[in-house]
Amino acid sequence: MTFTDILKSLDLDEAHFQGGTLDVASPIDGKIFANVKLDDAASLDQKISDATAAFQSWRTLPAPRRGELVRLLGEELRANKEALGALVTMDCGKIYQEGLGEVQEMIDICDYAVGLSRQLFGLMIASERPGHRMSETWHPAGPVGIISAFNFPVAVWSWNTALALVCGDPVIWKPSEKTPVTALACQALLERAIARFGDDAPKGLSSVVIGGADLGEQLVSDKRLPVISATGSTAMGRKVGPRVAERFGKSILELGGNNAMIVAPSADLDMAVRAIVFSAVGTAGQRCTSLRRVIVHESLVGDLLPKLQAAYKTIPVGDPLSEANLVGPLIDKMSFDAMQKSLAQAKDEGGEITGGMRLDVDGANDAFYVRPAIAIMPGQSDVVKTETFAPIAYIMTYTDLDDAIATQNDVPQGLSSCIFTRDLLEAETFLSAAGSDCGIANVNIGPSGAEIGGAFGGEKETGGGRESGSDAWRGYMRRQTNTVNYSKELPLAQGIKFEV
Ligand code: NAD
Repeated sequence: MTFTDILKSLDLDEAHFQGGTLDVASPIDGKIFANVKLDDAASLDQKISDATAAFQSWRTLPAPRRGELVRLLGEELRANKEALGALVTMDCGKIYQEGLGEVQEMIDICDYAVGLSRQLFGLMIASERPGHRMSETWHPAGPVGIISAFNFPVAVWSWNTALALVCGDPVIWKPSEKTPVTALACQALLERAIARFGDDAPKGLSSVVIGGADLGEQLVSDKRLPVISATGSTAMGRKVGPRVAERFGKSILELGGNNAMIVAPSADLDMAVRAIVFSAVGTAGQRCTSLRRVIVHESLVGDLLPKLQAAYKTIPVGDPLSEANLVGPLIDKMSFDAMQKSLAQAKDEGGEITGGMRLDVDGANDAFYVRPAIAIMPGQSDVVKTETFAPIAYIMTYTDLDDAIATQNDVPQGLSSCIFTRDLLEAETFLSAAGSDCGIANVNIGPSGAEIGGAFGGEKETGGGRESGSDAWRGYMRRQTNTVNYSKELPLAQGIKFEV
């Protein structure tokens, strides 16, 4: 499928994706397939003004009516799932099945948000004063600034946008400068939903700004945006977090991970191997939840390694639009160089490496395909504690579960984790207060591929933010405590006497 075919299928005008100054290369072959218009400080400022104005009316529209817009967005996504999935593949290089999965995730969050639009509930709280009623209400927070990473070029936007819109907040999205094409397509689909929704949707309710870190910095520094949801590397979050805090904004930070699996003696080994392969090599190791560390019981390593190495040798790597392949390219040369650097460091730190080499793919000399790597490490050295956004699985062994959990936790990041075991005591220990310190902890499931119903995010250098399901919607609203006196007296709290 060519870019022109995909745009035709989406009913989008190709002219909208050409003639700009930002060249967009597809990681599939490294060739430029679009040139999009960059935003500048003035156009960003205008879009923030429009969003601020839009907030005035959107916040007072009943939430179930706001949900109707998200329902229509879900319809647009359902109707365009295949084409948008293919565009995701073209923009970021993940295989087509994963492109489809990403769009399905968007559809799922829309469905979830539509239901949520009738459930933005507060609390009734017992008042200590007679004739008083106390409650807690949630109100729209204001326009939300969204920054997203290249590897989930559309799902992250939808997690934020579907919730923000039902919560009463306009959105301004700065996608990764590496994947602006899918962002413009998503905005066009939302605009189509808005046209069907009618006049209740104000101008400026949703916009996209295209640019790099400098534009991102302007966005996060703007006081008119009370909430900033930023997804990307920990290095980015280290800059964004303080900027937002400085102006007393709220940030939802979704940053780097360094996810581990403990394989315990009672594990179903075949299941564990399948989970390792999917979560370590899927998306070419470019998921925030990709498996990077396998901590395997010493009694099993002799059985596990040959199975794993055999699977790694035959895993089909190549054009992600061809359904024959399970692994596509890395995003760019920088990513390939970072992988090679980490493999060299792993070797210096005593690692035994297989795989990791660049692969030739027909017609793709400017692209970066690699054979996924396994690095058997003598321990959790510096390189293992660092997130390298590429398919490298570090293998380490353990004797006692407590040590395995300590190793799992002994990294700066805290996103996702899992244990493979059929021992209830081990599973519960892993999930207990003394177990995994991550935002996500699974039993007999790999660390990647979360469902939208749960709150998604992680601790420590992963940033502490939560998106998607559970009560993550509260991050897009402001809390108000209300006390109403329906008596004829004025009793003071804490029994204070103050007669005037
Ligand atoms: P990146 O940090 O290079 O870029 C992410 C986004 O931040 C881009 O839009 C970029 O333009 C913007 N940005 C960069 N510097 C900025 C600044 N100073 N101010 C404002 N914006 C700035 O990340 P990437 O390479 O696109 O994505 C890979 C990283 O993202 C990995 O570390 C991965 O773990 C992480 N990630 C995390 C999650 C999560 O939910 N925790 C999800 C996806 C990706």
